[in-house]
Amino acid sequence: MRILYAASEVAPFAKTGGLADVAGALPAALARLGHEVKVITPHYGAVNKKREGLQSRGDLAVKLAGKDYSFALWACRLPAAADLSDSPVEVLFLSHEGLFGRPGLYQGKGIDYPDNLERFSVFSRAALEVPKKLNWRPDVIHGNDWQTALIFVYRHAHLSADPLYRKIGTLFTIHNLGYPGLFPGAEFVKLALPPDYFTPDALEFYGKLNLLKAGLVFAGLLNTVSPTYCREIQTPEFGQGLEGVLRIRRQDLFGILNGVDYQQWNPAHDPYLSQPYDVRSLKGKRVCKEALQKECHLPVKEVPLIGMITRLTTQKGVDLVIEALDELMRLDLQLVVLGAGEPGIQQELKSAMRRYPEKLSVRIHFDEPLAHRIEAGADLFLMPSRYEPCGLNQMYSLRYGTIPIVRKTGGLADTVIDATPSNLAEGTANGFMFELASSHELLTTVRLAMKLFREKNFWYRMMRAGMAADFSWDRSAKEYEKLYRLAVEKAAKQDKAQRT
Ligand code: ADP
Repeated sequence: MRILYAASEVAPFAKTGGLADVAGALPAALARLGHEVKVITPHYGAVNKKREGLQSRGDLAVKLAGKDYSFALWACRLPAAADLSDSPVEVLFLSHEGLFGRPGLYQGKGIDYPDNLERFSVFSRAALEVPKKLNWRPDVIHGNDWQTALIFVYRHAHLSADPLYRKIGTLFTIHNLGYPGLFPGAEFVKLALPPDYFTPDALEFYGKLNLLKAGLVFAGLLNTVSPTYCREIQTPEFGQGLEGVLRIRRQDLFGILNGVDYQQWNPAHDPYLSQPYDVRSLKGKRVCKEALQKECHLPVKEVPLIGMITRLTTQKGVDLVIEALDELMRLDLQLVVLGAGEPGIQQELKSAMRRYPEKLSVRIHFDEPLAHRIEAGADLFLMPSRYEPCGLNQMYSLRYGTIPIVRKTGGLADTVIDATPSNLAEGTANGFMFELASSHELLTTVRLAMKLFREKNFWYRMMRAGMAADFSWDRSAKEYEKLYRLAVEKAAKQDKAQRT
């Protein structure tokens, strides 16, 4: 199949979170299954043409709401891994200096760019011109999150009679319902759509414009990134007000667990580590722990070291950690936090670090190499998320022999096997899980983990169970392949129905 994969961030070129990891890995896994995949993404200021070896693929023009936009199209191959040859996937960058030539992806100095609606509506409209420009007809268009949701609306409004697009299957993936792409209703005019697209059945959400909803209504099939989150979002607790739309579309809604790119996340050949290691020889992990303690200015000693790498938001339960911090710091442990996000949370963490310099190290920035060293050097990894569509770090932790402590929600519930007495006895346990989003439960679970840390037999069994778990993309890519076929069948049926 020919697949056009649209995403607003793609690793290793531009990343703020898990979406980039997925967009950098799933297309390559689909190519391994024999599909022809092209990824389309904005060309942000930080993507250097020379360094990435981008080649020109010509220009294309788009007119939207009376304005003319002229894009340059640049391309390169998706790197399969840092040290391997490129994959056959072509990454296409839509380049427009005025819209995307800035350092941030969505924000500058922590504040959303005021023209995000224009940036991503024009990007979505331009993405639909790319197949024409390349004379390449995709069988499927796969969009991700609100930034690309308008692709499906523009296809419906402007191109449904066009032979190139008529029978295209469409799939929209929700990576996080908490980021709906909300804009004032008055800005609807900027989208250049007929007025009947601004109704509660379409893009309107209580008087506002909700772009994620646009994807939910206009894409042929929908999916999210874990089976549990797929069920959760159909309830008021997790649905962010969109549970009604999601329930209406439940026959078209699927949950496919994200995978891990084991080329990038594998302690046996991770270029960022001071010593590689694997499940047969864990000596390197001890070296990595010492190196991490030194790098984070913590005393080098044999106490449980807990890692966190996260956006600093209440979604990730960082506020629960802050609430529990004084109690946590009474325990004989160390905590390393790498993250960036809400200014208030950043301040709290930094001031706590000043109070507990021997036990707490906080790094407020985005640092991919350090993220790898934390995964390797920590004994435990903390993810107390209030909700978690899939979560990648717990899966990275499992592979690095770093035992996750997670809240039972979304993809965390689908990937971590709790250290209950029976799971421990069977040897299946690979982590710790708690139910309530409370600092009290978090503390109780950390205490339990510390107790087991001293029982090395159990501990190594859990580490080995985690390291043996396989969340490779190849399995998830096969699930996506099935959805693409279904999306194409659905589009063909609809086309036939419209013609008779
Ligand atoms: P989300 O997409 O909700 O942020 P995920 O767990 O799905 O959460 O993915 C987060 C990704 O971003 C992981 O690859 C994680 O290592 C990375 N990440 C998050 N914050 C940082 C940071 N400050 N520095 C480096 N990597 C980070």
